[in-house]
Amino acid sequence: MRIAIISDIHANKEGLDAALAEIRKRGADEIVCLGDIVGYGASPNECVETVRSVTSRILLGNHDEAALYPEKAEYFNPYARIAVEWTYDELSEDHRNFLRGLPFSTEIGELLFVHSSPLEPSEWHYIITLADASDNFSFFQQPICFVGHSHVPEVFCTDGRSETVVRGLKFIVNVGSVGQPRDGNPQLSFGMFDTDAWVYENVRLDYDVQTAASKIRKAGLPKALADRLLVGR
Ligand code: ZN
Repeated sequence: MRIAIISDIHANKEGLDAALAEIRKRGADEIVCLGDIVGYGASPNECVETVRSVTSRILLGNHDEAALYPEKAEYFNPYARIAVEWTYDELSEDHRNFLRGLPFSTEIGELLFVHSSPLEPSEWHYIITLADASDNFSFFQQPICFVGHSHVPEVFCTDGRSETVVRGLKFIVNVGSVGQPRDGNPQLSFGMFDTDAWVYENVRLDYDVQTAASKIRKAGLPKALADRLLVGR
């Protein structure tokens, strides 16, 4: 089975459409979304609509949660908080109700999926360093846990950082962000995993970043949120 794993779309319709076109081209039996469909970008309703229609499973991210309950955005930086309040007003009632019902984690066969961390999927901890990853390995039994949240694609292994996944060791795989990459590369990022071959690939792709950025400016959202898309930070 081939599973496409998308995460942190952040209301970036141009990024989402480009990622899904590539997934269609490659062929996937399932598409899993690790959350943060909204927040930061200018197309929250379109992105929720699309993700609802193409994915088999969707998790709740911290920006989705904050867009439902803006009082939970107290720890967000000022730009993110402005975007949360804008998104709260913008989201349709139907999409809000849909997001409210999303889980924090899901499993497919031997694979675990969470937005933030297997340690406490609802607490929004980040896995940035090897030490963060080490703290998490004992909190799941599966050989691989897929995560998003940091917007930095990365493969952590019980043996250290890794280029790929292999049988016999445990992995935490961050698939990166479709809508707001933060590793200095503005290309969108998502993951493809083949459960039969046990092969993981991180896919990076150009998309119409100029249109996504100009929609953010036109929506009256902070200009910095548009600028960061162009540099992937
Ligand atoms: Zn995010």
